[in-house]
Amino acid sequence: MASQHPPQHDKVDPIDALLSAHGLRRTAASRRVLGWMLAYPDTSYTHAQLQEAFARDGGEPLDRVTLYRLIDRLTQVGLLLCRVDSQRVRRYQAMPASVHATPHFECQSCHRDSPLGAALRASDLEKAAQTAIESLRALGYQDMHFDLAVKGLCVECAGAKATMQPGGAPA
Ligand SMILES: [Zn+2]
Repeated sequence: MASQHPPQHDKVDPIDALLSAHGLRRTAASRRVLGWMLAYPDTSYTHAQLQEAFARDGGEPLDRVTLYRLIDRLTQVGLLLCRVDSQRVRRYQAMPASVHATPHFECQSCHRDSPLGAALRASDLEKAAQTAIESLRALGYQDMHFDLAVKGLCVECAGAKATMQPGGAPA
């Protein structure tokens, strides 16, 4: 029982563990980017927003090329999810576990993601997604993600918009 002594590092940082598990180098930059994305799992960011965030967080400056390359790598290995929003801009967020089949709502204003399970009877949709994935798998398709997203304005943003326009929307 006494021989379980991992050398040196007792605690493996979960970020480091994720990076290693996906074959990525554990650099200061990769830790920082993945750490940020995991700290804000419900928000999706554009390249520009991430660049701004890292310019303001007090750490070492992260150059644009390094940041873009890192985001690409993290997306390739499935740690980040890339979506194109209604303005055709790429947005990135930590890969939500829910994305595999669960329907979710993407607010186009605050860019928060919320599961739709409670808001509507989503189990039929989920079942349909699962069936589709299984049929495709039987045909030989692999590594499928079924992204079931409803896009629009969330309740909060819709409310804020309504109070901002007391006279009604312009024509
Ligand atoms: Zn919103």
